[in-house]
Amino acid sequence: MAPRQRFGQHFLNDPTLAARIIDCLDLDAGLPVFEIGPGRGALTALLLQRLRRLHAVEIDRDLSAALEDRYGDRGLVVHCTDVLSFDFCGAAPGPLQIVGNLPYNISTPLLFHLLDQLDCIARMVFMLQKEVADRIAAAPGGGDYGRLSVMIQSRCRVESLFRVGPQAFTPPPRVESRVIRLTPAAGPAIKDRELFAAVVRTAFSHRRKTLRNALKGYIAAAGLEALGIDPGQRPQELAVATYAALANHLTDRDREAGHDSGA
Ligand code: SAM
Repeated sequence: MAPRQRFGQHFLNDPTLAARIIDCLDLDAGLPVFEIGPGRGALTALLLQRLRRLHAVEIDRDLSAALEDRYGDRGLVVHCTDVLSFDFCGAAPGPLQIVGNLPYNISTPLLFHLLDQLDCIARMVFMLQKEVADRIAAAPGGGDYGRLSVMIQSRCRVESLFRVGPQAFTPPPRVESRVIRLTPAAGPAIKDRELFAAVVRTAFSHRRKTLRNALKGYIAAAGLEALGIDPGQRPQELAVATYAALANHLTDRDREAGHDSGA
């Protein structure tokens, strides 16, 4: 069966590389393992050599059926569905280990979907398009630093592990790839995650504007200054911890205002 472009199918053809990716997961055989997008089973087969049970989430019905036939009696549980709506926390008791050579066309929404379920996740190892991996790991100040960097770094330790060239895949993608490890970590205390997410989203939807303008719906320039933030800076210049402090200040301010008006 020909690879399906709409599902971002680029199959790993290098078993040494597949083993290296799995090693990065530091498998704990006592914890459930999920593979995202097993495809033709390049990682699946190796994982099953080390595990008695493996969950795999695959959208392609033909590939899912083939995987079930081949590995069903070796402990593979195939969830033939769209991973973007898959309930990981409901599928097995956490903490979970998640691995995958991700379909690049959905990697950003998928990462946000996983962030929503981080409470049941122990660690994740993913192959991603290099540009996305660079954005996840980016430090403040550069062009790669953005909403994805802040949202992931606020809740995970990010390790950018190694690069993979197009020739490791069949068919080869037009882009370079990178393997990363994300480990949920305490990060800065955030009082209201929804407000934090909204502030970060608003800030980065106006990257070229100064913070004074980008965030004027939330806070005046004097308020930014009182927090030690230069209102003339751009959104990509603020550290993750500063976004957390800003959102926490807004949370406190809203709560105080709520109490005052209710009194
Ligand atoms: N793991 C295999 C490998 O390394 O050879 C395949 C990786 S391929 C880049 C991505 C896989 O994700 C494909 O098998 C594709 O069918 C699957 N996929 C694409 N979109 C998906 C979705 N929304 N939900 C679940 N699986 C998806």
